[in-house]
Order: sequence, then C-alpha cells, then structure tokens
Amino acid sequence: MNDSAVRILRTALRTVPDFPKPGIQFIDITPVLQDPGLFALAIDLFCERYEKLGLDAIVAVDARGFIFGGAIARQLGVGFVPIRKKGKLPYRTREQSYDLEYGSATIAVHEDALRPGQRAALVDDVLATGGTAAAAAQLIVSLGAELAEATFFVELGFLNGRAKLAGLPMASIIRID
Ligand code: AMP
Repeated sequence: MNDSAVRILRTALRTVPDFPKPGIQFIDITPVLQDPGLFALAIDLFCERYEKLGLDAIVAVDARGFIFGGAIARQLGVGFVPIRKKGKLPYRTREQSYDLEYGSATIAVHEDALRPGQRAALVDDVLATGGTAAAAAQLIVSLGAELAEATFFVELGFLNGRAKLAGLPMASIIRID
C-alpha cells in the first residue's frame, strides 16, 4: 500500500476523547470525507486492494461503512449490499447479534442479498473490538457467499479486534496501536 497516502490520511483523522461515552477515543472520519482529494484517496486505496479479488459485491455496515462501501462499489462496478441494524431492512432478513465497544446490537441482511458462491468484500470505517465485523462476516457466510476480504479504513490495534476475525482474510488501511 502507498505509505505516503496512508500517512496523509492518518494525519487527517480526528480523535475525539470521551465520545459517545467516557473512556472512548472516537475516531472521526469526517475530515477525510469533507476533503474531496482525501476521500478519493481513501476509496482508491480500498479499490487497489480489490482489483484482483474478482468481487461480485461490496458489503458494508450501517452507517459509516455505507459512506465508503457505496463509493467503492461504484468505482469497482459491482453491487452494494447493506447490513443494517435489526428492524431497518424491509424484506426477509437473516439476523446476527453481537457486542460493541459500547453496548450491544443485532444486525441484519436481506436473505437474497448475495447468492451462494458470490465473492464479497466487507467494508467498515473502524475495526474496534471486532464484534460488528465478526457478526457481519457470519451473515455473509450464512448466505453461502465467500468473504474475499474484510477491510477497515482504521484498525484500533490495541483493542485486538483481529482476534474475532481469526481465520478470515482481513486488512486495514490505517492501523492505530
Ligand atoms: P466493534 O464492533 O467494537 O469493532 O465496533 C465497530 C463499529 O463501531 C464500527 O462500525 C465503528 O463505526 C464503530 N466504532 C466503535 N468504536 C469506535 C471508535 N473508537 N471510533 C469510531 N467508531 C467506532
């Protein structure tokens, strides 16, 4: 991966202490999004990884994952699959519950969102404890699709979310230790 591009993006991140709860260092990606050059750079770094993976779809998690996921899918010319909080998707769904760094949640995907054998990449803005990504990966696999890679714009290495994705192909653009 392009080291100087990663350094530029890392510098643009804003860390907000004690949001949404005391003790959480919130990684705010909005400074990257509001700069068209930085946003394009971030999307390009994801797409470079995906060019040779033969993807059929990009899957992303509600809500900030959608910002990256939609743009990546459009750039690659593949479909986009939303994973949303339980109760938000209108059609028949598969559900998976998980623990968050703050709280717990259940996520869902439309049961016809991916066909068996399709290759999908999972995208999210931040890998924290890994609960969300592990649950999303389970949903992808439960539909019979293949998880080609789970990719995160930022990985909070000190929370060891990687451990929850053990055995699955994963990568991050920016790692904070
Ligand atoms: P986790 O399941 O703990 O890996 O949490 C990942 C999800 O929660 C991602 O979708 C992030 O958007 C959000 N999240 C968790 N912790 C943070 C954090 N410190 N800064 C920004 N977003 C976070």
